[in-house]
Amino acid sequence: MADGGRARPNILVTGTPGTGKTTTCSLLSDAIRLRHINVGELVREKDLHDGWDEEFECHIINEDLVCDELEDKMEEGGNIVDYHGCDFFPERWFDCVVVLQTDNSILHDRLSSRGYMGPKLINNIECEIFQVLLEEAKASYAEDIVMALQSDTVEDISRNVAKLTEWVNNWRPHRSS
Ligand code: ADP
Ligand code: MN
Repeated sequence: MADGGRARPNILVTGTPGTGKTTTCSLLSDAIRLRHINVGELVREKDLHDGWDEEFECHIINEDLVCDELEDKMEEGGNIVDYHGCDFFPERWFDCVVVLQTDNSILHDRLSSRGYMGPKLINNIECEIFQVLLEEAKASYAEDIVMALQSDTVEDISRNVAKLTEWVNNWRPHRSS
């Protein structure tokens, strides 16, 4: 496995909106001092999009601009990337791909209380039911680096952060010639 010689690993945390990516990544970055990159925020801050999707009420992300923006940091290593998509990042960027998953009824309540409704709510619940992000992760990365983690309760979050902290602490650079 090529890791480009980085001294610290890069982790991708993906999953349907509301599964707890940002909460998990914030706690994890506090625990192990990796850089938390919230791609949705970055897209808004740096205008890395091609306008607004009226139906799904979100920016239409410009994947090339996002990848160009992140390349140097990813080469350096030590990043936790937080995004509800994973198929457009270069495969070589990541040492671990985490897919957070949440029970459908719990997710429904979380998204409703976030103000999601109509097609946006239905689309996201279906995304979770059909395990779209898990399939996308498995199709885009080596299966042995993809880790599906349940994120229903706050205890799940603590357990996931502990597990990932341990994973990072055990990670060693590959010294391929
Ligand atoms: P995402 O970044 O995947 O959209 P967030 O981290 O923003 O998700 O979480 C969405 C909401 O759900 C927040 O209010 C958060 O506190 C709550 N939440 C997320 N994961 C869990 C969990 N495992 N247990 C309890 N609440 C959670
Ligand atoms: Mn988020």
